[in-house]
Amino acid sequence: MAIERTFSIIKPDATRRNLTGKINTLFEENGLSIIAQKRIQMSRAHAESFYGVHAARPFFKDLVEFMVSGPVVVQVLEGENAVAKNRDLMGATNPANAAEGTIRKLFAESIEANSVHGSDSAENAAIEIAYFFAGLELVG
Ligand code: ADP
Ligand code: MG
Repeated sequence: MAIERTFSIIKPDATRRNLTGKINTLFEENGLSIIAQKRIQMSRAHAESFYGVHAARPFFKDLVEFMVSGPVVVQVLEGENAVAKNRDLMGATNPANAAEGTIRKLFAESIEANSVHGSDSAENAAIEIAYFFAGLELVG
């Protein structure tokens, strides 16, 4: 299986509760290496553009408010099958449906404040990584 990269965000509900380290431990214990990482305050324009695919959804405005409500940690994770592996580790969008042991089952507060973002395809991973990181910032 191929070594891949995926893009991850530790969302404001998780940074607020000081969960960055616990979530990073789960990545590392599951074969995902953090090859780039920074803590940032997203601007409204950043959040609206990043979640642009959801612009027509009823939850879009609230989602943007949530994503700018505090710091986030943006990251690049690398490992075998990283995109699918991270989606499995994250669990379902709604924590009520997330499997035992997943990040969202362990930590998410709600379907909106669900602690982590992870790319849903290799194509989107490349776009999302380039949106937040320069090539020189990725140290594999
Ligand atoms: P995922 O993050 O699992 O890929 P989506 O891409 O469908 O999920 O949605 C992006 C984000 O929008 C979710 O992680 C969550 O924060 C928020 N969201 C999704 N669906 C809802 C909803 N029904 N109500 C409120 N927020 C939602
Ligand atoms: Mg998604």
